Amino acid sequence: MTLTVLEPATARSMAEIPEATPEDVDRAVERARAAFPAWSAVAPSDRARLLLRLADAIEAELEPLALLEARNAGHPLASARGEIGMVAATFRYYAGGVERNLGDTIPVAGGVAMTFREPLGVVGLITPWNFPLPIASWKLAPALAAGNCAILKPAELTPLTAVELERIALQAGIPEGVLQVLVGPGRTVGQRMVEHPGIAKIGFTGSTAVGAGIQRTAADTIKRVTLELGGKSANVVFADADLEAAAASAPGAVFDNAGQDCCARSRILVQRSAVDRFLELLEPAVTGFSVGDPLQDGIAMGPLISASHREKVASFVDDDAQVAFRGSAPEGEGFWFPPTVLAPVDPSARAATEEIFGPVVAVIPFDDEADAIRLANDSIYGLSGSVWTENGGRALRVARAIETGVISINSNSSVRVSTPFGGFKQSGIGRELGPHALEAYSELKTVYYATGA
Ligand code: NAP
Ligand code: MG
Repeated sequence: MTLTVLEPATARSMAEIPEATPEDVDRAVERARAAFPAWSAVAPSDRARLLLRLADAIEAELEPLALLEARNAGHPLASARGEIGMVAATFRYYAGGVERNLGDTIPVAGGVAMTFREPLGVVGLITPWNFPLPIASWKLAPALAAGNCAILKPAELTPLTAVELERIALQAGIPEGVLQVLVGPGRTVGQRMVEHPGIAKIGFTGSTAVGAGIQRTAADTIKRVTLELGGKSANVVFADADLEAAAASAPGAVFDNAGQDCCARSRILVQRSAVDRFLELLEPAVTGFSVGDPLQDGIAMGPLISASHREKVASFVDDDAQVAFRGSAPEGEGFWFPPTVLAPVDPSARAATEEIFGPVVAVIPFDDEADAIRLANDSIYGLSGSVWTENGGRALRVARAIETGVISINSNSSVRVSTPFGGFKQSGIGRELGPHALEAYSELKTVYYATGA
C-alpha cells in the first residue's frame, strides 16, 4: 500500500510513500530489541556526542527540512525554520542530560542504597500532524538520551520530515535499530504499537479521544504512557492590563499555525469594563493577520491541514451573527479559513467549551477575579493559558489558581526546551521537555549494597 501525502496550500499530492503494516511493527520491535543492549551500554559521554552530532546534522539540513515541513504542514516558512531550529536545540539539550541522568545514594542500616535511572527498553512514540518534527523530537531526544531505542509513528498527514530524520540519524552515527520511523495509520500501526508486549512505553501527543483509547489498551501490558492531549486555554485579560500589548499578542496566541496548536488561547476572557476597548484594539490586529501561501515572505498563517478538518472548524461558525469580525483568506485551492473572532460568547456554547483546533476564538466577558478563575477552570482541559494584569499580586494569584500545566503572565508564550510542558485534567498525563522528561523515559532502580557490620 502507498500513502499519498498532500500539500494543504494547494490540495495537491506532494509525495507517495510506502505504508507500513502491523507486521512491520513486529519487525521494528525485533530490530530495536536487538539494538538495545549495545545502545544502552554506550558510554554516556559517547551517547551525548552522538546526540550532539545528530543536532548538528539537523541544523546542516535546516533549510530543506523547513521547506518540507512548511509544504507538508502548511506552516509559514519562517515559522518552520524556527521549528527545525528547536528540533536541533532539543537534541542538544538532552545530549547535555545524558551525563546528568543521576541517581541518589541513601544511607541505610547495614549498608548503602543507591538508585540508578535505567532505560525502559523499546519505546513507541506516536505524534500528531500539527507540529510534526518538534513534537517528535520532544519524545525522541529524552528517550535516546536515557538509553532507549525508539520507534516513531508520525501522523499519516505529515510523515515526510520524520522519514528524513531517520536517514539523518543513521548518517550521524546513531546505530541501526535505535531510531526507526514507521509511516502508517494510527488504527493499525499505532494500535499494534500500543498492544505490543515488546514496547515498554508509549509517548503520545494527539487528541484526548485517541489518548483515552491508548491508555485503555496500554493497561493490558502495564505500559507506561505519557499523554499530551487537547486544550481550550484561556487568555485572561483584566481591565488593569496593558490592553494594547494584550490585544497585539492575542491573535498570534490563537491564529499561529492556523489555530492548530494544543496551546492555542482559544478563549479570551476579558473583564467586562474593558471588553469594548479590547475588541476595538483587537480588530485591526486580526484583520491585519496575513493569511496565504506559506512559502511567501511576510505570511503569518497558512492553510488548515485538510478538507475534513476545515469542515470541522467551520461547524463552529455556523451562525454568522456570532462573528464580531474576521480576517481574510485566499480563495480557491487549499484548505483556507480566515481568522475569526466570535464575541460575546456564552461560556456554555460549543465554541467556548470544545477544542476547535482552528483559527476561531471566543471572547467571553467576566466580572471580577473570582469570576475569571471560575470561567478559566470551567473546562475539561488544562494545558496552557495567560493572565494579563499590571497588578503583580493578582497575576501570581490567578496563575496559581488556574488549573493548567503552563501559564504565562503578560505574555502568550508556551513552550521552551528547558521547561516542563504538559497538561492538567484531560489535557494529559506526564510532562515533556525540561529535565523531567528524562525521568519519564527511565525506570528508577534501587540497589542495596550490604557492607557488613
Ligand atoms: P489524533 O487523531 O489523536 O492522532 C494523533 C496520532 O495518533 C496520529 O499519529 C494518529 O495516526 C495516531 N492514532 C490515531 N488513532 C490511533 C489509535 N487507535 N492507536 C494508536 N495511534 C492512533 O490527533 P491529531 O488529529 O493528529 O492532532 C490533533 C490533536 O492533537 C488535538 O486534539 C491537539 O490538541 C492534540 N495535540 C496536543 C498537543 C500537546 O502537547 N498536548 C500537541 C499537539 C497536538 P494517523 O493520524 O496517522 O492515523
Ligand atoms: Mg486525527
